[in-house]
Amino acid sequence: MTARLLDGQALARQIQQELTPQVADFTRRHGRPPGLAIVLVGHNPASEVYVRNKIKAGGEVGFRADLERLPESASLGDVLALVERLNGSEAHDGILVQSPLPKTLGPDAAARVFDAIVPAKDVDGFTPANVGRMVQGRPALVACTPSGIIELLVREGIPIARRRACVVGRSDIVGKPMALLLLQRDATVTVCHSKTPDLPAVCREADIVVAAVGRAGLVTKAFVKPGATVIDVGMNTVTDPAAAASLFPDGHPKLARFRERGSLLVGDVHPEVAEAAGALTPVPGGVGPLTVTMLMQNTLRAARARMDGGW
Ligand code: NDP
Repeated sequence: MTARLLDGQALARQIQQELTPQVADFTRRHGRPPGLAIVLVGHNPASEVYVRNKIKAGGEVGFRADLERLPESASLGDVLALVERLNGSEAHDGILVQSPLPKTLGPDAAARVFDAIVPAKDVDGFTPANVGRMVQGRPALVACTPSGIIELLVREGIPIARRRACVVGRSDIVGKPMALLLLQRDATVTVCHSKTPDLPAVCREADIVVAAVGRAGLVTKAFVKPGATVIDVGMNTVTDPAAAASLFPDGHPKLARFRERGSLLVGDVHPEVAEAAGALTPVPGGVGPLTVTMLMQNTLRAARARMDGGW
């Protein structure tokens, strides 16, 4: 079997096209576009790329999208003061603070900063208020990566209700909300993590496997029931030639690219899984573009809720 590739890039483009007239309608009615502010502290190279993509996508759908930069030397107080200013800004409906924050801000910086964002503008869905509302199945701004995956499954016609789902990873931003969203759609959900015994056997029970770990090629064919849907959230940069060679057979074009560039972006799912899975998201071009698109959707929802009332 060769898995059907689930094209997240194409779906992201389609959803952005659906959002564009809705954004134009909002702008006409309120005399201003929905506004998104992205806070970037320091110069993490991966964050620079993510933030650039988000600002670009915001501009494409017609948002006002502002990058608010703080230097690497900024204090936690500086970040909190900026969030406070954006909380009160009339022009901004959504606030996103790009992770990771510099380590110099301290171990609890991310929690302190996310706690400070007013829930109505929390377009990442990370504040305790939005997480709590999501857990209770009430309207909420929901984390972008898991909501993008649900959107992909639904639009690709992959059944969730009455199916077994296995989420590998239990982070607050991907694994836990993913498990809850699948549960709300009546899947029977297992959540796995680094202490799960016999991970392949647990995953093999599932009709839908979501890998959100951050380990290149961890999910092999041994994890996958034939015909299962496999969603690869992982974004791993491989720089070790032996690791690249363990993922791709001799002569594979990705190995040539690796030799040219010295690195390769790969997921958590081993390429051999394409021989067993029924459907599979690629990396890049799968979950990543949908995450950005869900940020746009959340920002429009937040803007409408602020200006029109309700959800
Ligand atoms: P975290 O590091 O926060 O969480 C990783 C999870 O994986 C933890 O729950 C950890 O378990 C579990 N884990 C680690 N090693 C193993 C193992 N050997 N077997 C089973 N479970 C294991 O990562 P994130 O959730 O933030 O991100 C996961 C991946 O997804 C990363 O590659 C990240 O870059 C990517 N990502 C991609 C996005 C996109 O838009 N495409 C968005 C967000 C993330 P434990 O809790 O026991 O430590």
